[in-house]
Amino acid sequence: MRKYTGFYIDGNWLDEQGTSNIEVINPSTGEVAGIISDGNEKQVNNAVEAAKRAFVSFSQTSVNERLELLKAITNEYKQREAEISAAISEEMGAPDWLASQYQAAMGLAHLNTTIEALSKFPFEEQKGTTRILREPIGVCGFITPWNWPINQVVVKVLPALATGCTMVLKPAAQTPFSAWLLTEIFDKAGVPAGVFNLVNGHGGKVGSALSRHPDIDMISFTGSTGAGISVAVDAAPTVKRVHQELGGKSANIILDDADIVQAVDNGVKAIMMNTGQTCTAPTRMLIHESKYEAAVEQARKTAESITVGAPSSNSYMGPLSSKKQFDTVQKYIQIGIDEGAEIIAGGLGSPEGLEKGYFAKPTIFANVTNSMRIAREEIFGPVLVMIRYSNEEEAIAIANDSPFGLAGYVQSSSIERARKVASKIRAGQIYLNYAPLDFEAPFGGYKQSGNGREWGEQALYEFVEIKSVVGFG
Ligand code: NAP
Repeated sequence: MRKYTGFYIDGNWLDEQGTSNIEVINPSTGEVAGIISDGNEKQVNNAVEAAKRAFVSFSQTSVNERLELLKAITNEYKQREAEISAAISEEMGAPDWLASQYQAAMGLAHLNTTIEALSKFPFEEQKGTTRILREPIGVCGFITPWNWPINQVVVKVLPALATGCTMVLKPAAQTPFSAWLLTEIFDKAGVPAGVFNLVNGHGGKVGSALSRHPDIDMISFTGSTGAGISVAVDAAPTVKRVHQELGGKSANIILDDADIVQAVDNGVKAIMMNTGQTCTAPTRMLIHESKYEAAVEQARKTAESITVGAPSSNSYMGPLSSKKQFDTVQKYIQIGIDEGAEIIAGGLGSPEGLEKGYFAKPTIFANVTNSMRIAREEIFGPVLVMIRYSNEEEAIAIANDSPFGLAGYVQSSSIERARKVASKIRAGQIYLNYAPLDFEAPFGGYKQSGNGREWGEQALYEFVEIKSVVGFG
């Protein structure tokens, strides 16, 4: 049982009297795994004040000083990576292999790319007689979700530190353990007092107080489109910069020249990874009508081969991260059934023997049309929909017929053909032939999937203001 009560403000761990607690549930068992404090506006105000004070000196630090700081964080992170991995498995149910090789490892990957980007970043540029300065934007507020808990935090905190910003973080109340350990790492690595502050609590209270705060210059939010809209509305009166990483319903176009067995097998595994709780997951599989039957057959086979179990069983899929998420997934499976789609694998309920905790079945719907709710709305669970198309133009039109535009996937034996299709998809990240993650590739969405980009060099541009000194010489 973890007791992570209190707040990290101005370089101090403050366990304030009279604050109520939030229970953190282990989704593999449904049992309480720990408690955190339920913050409010008072802690937000104190944290923002500390960040504002710290900005005066931190914004003036040299690139070398900030590179040294990021390297010190890297050293601490490496020593505690296994602990972080275990915390992620406990708070959101990621299988051990996923928590260690992906979830926790992504922290180090982003540290490396941020260090590389900072060492080359053009903070100053001369155009004619004008000097263009890129200066840290100021005090930032960060609100993050539970699905990739460390990744979502570091992709905001690291570029902010790199550019000389100060910040207040509110991680998802559901997954606060890994963020707490990360805060200990920052403290140990020597992040100056007030530069990084942690205020745990709920979005409606702590998140909203951050979004509204007049001394916060930028709010960066990752989560659902609905909450992202609330953040933007709260932020509007103070005209702060609003960065949003929101939902997705990404299309996976399998062209008729692709190896159908390989393409479908990889596509099913990609959606089921992290129990379907990945914003860029390829949740709509688009298949040429000539290959549809073969694709359905392969999808069934792959789904049936996917193992489900507790993190320590090292199954491919762990539980959904909460009872709420389990109920949402069940609701959508029922909606799919009611809409007339055909379940070819999985379905309602939990896999046999896994009734305790929030385990769902890897579920595939065939005979889906793009107008069905299961094809339009983000389910955020292990549910794949398979849609037929008759020609390439129609596939592209279906891919783009979505309120979201986070990611897209194209499979083809011809890289030229895949590139051409990619150029017509309106989404922020397109993966050709299941290319592996690239931590330098800008990450973010078109349309209702958000504003702005994270990851690598591009992330640093999001955290600077531009000053033109005209007549500089
Ligand atoms: P969520 O309910 O929107 O919550 C995300 C965060 O926002 C949590 O910390 C939450 O606090 C907080 N929050 C909720 N309402 C708020 C409000 N009115 N004002 C300020 N903060 C508020 O999303 P989720 O269910 O945790 O995460 C799943 C969603 O995130 C999916 O839609 C997924 O696609 C999206 N996502 C997007 C990306 C991306 O990069 N584009 C990456 C990952 C996930 P609590 O702690 O109280 O819940």
